[in-house]
Amino acid sequence: MDGEEFRKAGYAAIDEICKYYETLPARKVVSDVEPGYLASLLPTSMPDSGEAWSQIQSDIEDKIVPGLTHWQHPNFLAFFPANATFPGILGDMYSTAFTCAAFNWICSPAVTELETIVLDWLARALSLPSCYLSAAHGGGVIQGSASEALVTVMVAARDRYLDRFGEDRRKKAEARGRLMAFGSEMTHSSTLKAALICGVEYRTIPVEEGTWRLRGEALKKAIDEAREEGWIPFFLTATIGTTATCAVDAVDAIAEWKQQEGNDDVWIHVDAAYAGAALILPEYQHLTPPLAHFDSFDMNMHKWLLTPFDASCLFVRERKHLIDALSVTPSYLRNKASESGRVIDYRDWQVPLGRRFRGLKVWFVMRTYGLAGLREHVRRTIELGEGFAANIRTRDDLFEIIAPPAYALTVFTVRSPDPEVMSDNELTKKVYERINLDGEFFLTHSVVGGQDVIRVVGGSPQLRKEHLDRCFEVVVKFAEDVSKEVTE
Ligand code: PLP
Repeated sequence: MDGEEFRKAGYAAIDEICKYYETLPARKVVSDVEPGYLASLLPTSMPDSGEAWSQIQSDIEDKIVPGLTHWQHPNFLAFFPANATFPGILGDMYSTAFTCAAFNWICSPAVTELETIVLDWLARALSLPSCYLSAAHGGGVIQGSASEALVTVMVAARDRYLDRFGEDRRKKAEARGRLMAFGSEMTHSSTLKAALICGVEYRTIPVEEGTWRLRGEALKKAIDEAREEGWIPFFLTATIGTTATCAVDAVDAIAEWKQQEGNDDVWIHVDAAYAGAALILPEYQHLTPPLAHFDSFDMNMHKWLLTPFDASCLFVRERKHLIDALSVTPSYLRNKASESGRVIDYRDWQVPLGRRFRGLKVWFVMRTYGLAGLREHVRRTIELGEGFAANIRTRDDLFEIIAPPAYALTVFTVRSPDPEVMSDNELTKKVYERINLDGEFFLTHSVVGGQDVIRVVGGSPQLRKEHLDRCFEVVVKFAEDVSKEVTE
């Protein structure tokens, strides 16, 4: 494909993408293909000779789109949102056009410098304590996912703990075998995965019934017990916005406990993958001062903050710990700029070496919407979520809200008219399965405190009140249908 062909194909692709967005509401949100559908539509090996773009392009609508679940659809109310927007798409387009695996500053100074600047902008917008800014000892780096960020900081936490043994490798090895990471029962599974990758033990701490958040007393008890058993607690994930209910762990009490500890034994990481976006709103910024006592914070702009996947924004209080743990410098990676100490080499802040120009889409999104536009988006979707929860409350004969509606998320169960015939759990599951099978809406199911629950969360710029009102009608209809079957 030469430049002229690319120009034509590019215009056609943009046209097709715009048409896709315009026709989204008319599409079924969930893909209903059967497993293996694509293999029956495609040849078993790559073509011998190259094909014309027109041939390739026509396969997108015919063969690929049927196998897509439409995350940008306003009726996608499952998991957490993953917003794509046009400025973000343009950012990725330029990033791909420039393709530079900018692991060192020298590889493309603009990639590193723009990333540092936009993450400082973000830290200020989220009101993170100033220790997380690049002008202090901290700074931000864009990772591919919150899970990747967790592995990265857990390695740094492990090495920070073990560094106290200096060159004594025997003591280091002995302590390494006793390291234990902590999360709550509601902490996302990515902390467990990071512990598996780091080869350390992992223990969960019970949350408070009803609020589903980690409290300071439970944390202290769990850490004391583990120490008595001979384990070395070295890492804790505190969450702002848990996956199941968007609960916020007691960050003020955790900060108080950390101050009482009076040392840096336990690295505290704040996982705000989804709900961190709400920290751009002044009414949520009371949550951030305790973060000055913690070690790292991560939020995904690619969930709720109008930036296409991937842009997981990790901030650390002391970048030194990342660099100490992750810097491996063979001769081919050395250069004068790095040795000058005046530049950031992001390869030392992450697991991979090469990296994409992700700062560009973040920059485009921030400039297109501005802080006011981003705030309007988050506040609007929170209010829509509260409206949905208010509708659910009007039918307390049918539904029970399990956690206070938070960050646009509503979590509820369906009440069984006769628990001896069908339990609330069974009925809730049945209702949820029927809704998703029907395909007009896509919702997620979860388990909270042993109860099967339905989660409804919408954070898309396409979302309007009418979509959530219709979702309420659909949920009521299926709940009434299944309830009727129980009593018949
Ligand atoms: N943390 C929380 C609270 C989440 O809800 C999720 C995913 O939804 C993750 C971490 C994992 O995010 P990622 O897919 O970026 O690894």
